[in-house]
Amino acid sequence: MLPKVNFAHLPTPIDELPRLTQELGGPELLIKRDDQTGLAFGGNKTRKLEYLMGDAVSKKANVVLSTGAAQSNHCRQTAAAAARCGLDCTLILVEPEPEEPSANYFLDLLLGANIVWTPKSSRDLTLEVTFKEAERSGFNPYLIPYGGSNALGAYAYYQAYQELLAQLKGELPDWIVFASSSGGTQAGLFLASRVFDGPKVLGISVDEPETHLRNTVAKISLDLIENLDLEVEINMEQILVDANYTGEGYGIMNEQDRKAIRLFAETEGILLDPVYTGRAGGGLLDLISKGFFDRNDKVLFWHTGGTPGLFADRYIREI
Ligand SMILES: *Cc1c(COP(=O)(O)O)cnc(C)c1O
Repeated sequence: MLPKVNFAHLPTPIDELPRLTQELGGPELLIKRDDQTGLAFGGNKTRKLEYLMGDAVSKKANVVLSTGAAQSNHCRQTAAAAARCGLDCTLILVEPEPEEPSANYFLDLLLGANIVWTPKSSRDLTLEVTFKEAERSGFNPYLIPYGGSNALGAYAYYQAYQELLAQLKGELPDWIVFASSSGGTQAGLFLASRVFDGPKVLGISVDEPETHLRNTVAKISLDLIENLDLEVEINMEQILVDANYTGEGYGIMNEQDRKAIRLFAETEGILLDPVYTGRAGGGLLDLISKGFFDRNDKVLFWHTGGTPGLFADRYIREI
């Protein structure tokens, strides 16, 4: 058993999306609500952090460090998880520092995190330097990887896939579609789909080229196979990544993203986020319109969270 701290509200609900399904003329759509994992507005990082914080606590860490964009959902959930476990938290955020804190960055401050700003080009160096400084000052720091994406973080989604199977029993969807970026979520879901009988796993890349994301998913999956001592073989072709929707890159909204955010909101009252789930939702709508799925398929959209991003000043202006 891997050490774990329990703070996520699990299992997350699964909802039907009848109005969206009707609007699009099928396939039948479902949604898994990991925007409801319960920790400071939730999201997919909450599941990963149960294991990452479990590891940190078992190693007697007293401060956790991580890194991300100024509007990082991962960093916000890390700050909340650290508070929940009574640990300090230092976040290395990529410049520019916003003039007014809003959305995730506002929540980082509210949750008591220390912030260190860094140019993107020297992010890893700043992380390393800050880690060493913490050690020199007598702390026992623990590094939470970018996006919480290593074998430990991915294990949470290996478990989440099984949670889904248990919830839906005989009524399994054919596909799971979701936003993929640092690869941990996809590695866990993908590996579980190779081990257990269930839906195919399709990651919509938010920002990474297809080959890069596939390689990342493969690497994390292999680490997890080793950690769990599994007897399963994987190959690159099995890792399904669609990188046709990355547009102008991370965090830069386009019309397809906006369309998905509005449609989910107006037909189902469900909020997607401007960076990840809006993009994956946009990809899903486009794939449906192109006939990628069979009309009789059942497709589950895995909502990975990020909704506080809707309130970032720049996105309020853009959506
Ligand atoms: C981090 C994040 C993702 C991507 O998950 P990875 O495991 O990094 O691929 C998707 N959606 C949201 C809202 C996120 O914050």
